[in-house]
Amino acid sequence: MQQVPSFQVIDGQLIGARQIASPNYNQRPEQTEIQLLVVHNISLPPSQFGGGYIEQFFQNQLDWSVHPYFQTIEGMQVSTHLLILRTGEVLQFVNFNDRAWHAGRSTYLAKKECNDYSIGIELEGSDDRPFEDIQYTILAEVIRVLQAAYPKILQHLAGHSDIAPGRKTDPGPFFDWAKTRALIQQAKADQ
Ligand SMILES: [Zn+2]
Repeated sequence: MQQVPSFQVIDGQLIGARQIASPNYNQRPEQTEIQLLVVHNISLPPSQFGGGYIEQFFQNQLDWSVHPYFQTIEGMQVSTHLLILRTGEVLQFVNFNDRAWHAGRSTYLAKKECNDYSIGIELEGSDDRPFEDIQYTILAEVIRVLQAAYPKILQHLAGHSDIAPGRKTDPGPFFDWAKTRALIQQAKADQ
């Protein structure tokens, strides 16, 4: 059983995550509380894991000539707060107090612009492959810690496809919401 780091949120940073700065963020609108958590999947190239391309992409350092797919996303400036790799390692690209660019045009409970008030978590994965058990374990623990730090997200956990239906499909059919919710409850009980 892989060790789960003891995560902690301090000043918008997740202690226990590897910090990598993305330039793709700005300020949240004034007096906007964090009240939603959005789960995504990403892999570069699609359905290929490892390689470090996602990290390069979020830092605007991806060499677009490396793979034909990269040319289809050339110049895109996006980010996420957190990325959970297949190994379970957690990377943080944007401080939680800042607005990461992960959701795009989106609506949650009739409230637009989800980037303004959400935290984005990307799982290294795809719509056509199961996620790793360690990713679920780590995700649940990270969500537990984030919910403690930002109580308004307690009831508000969504997939990218939920807030941008028709436009986005991630985290995809292989993402197991029931398992995720059960593991979050278990993480809370273990405290
Ligand atoms: Zn997404």
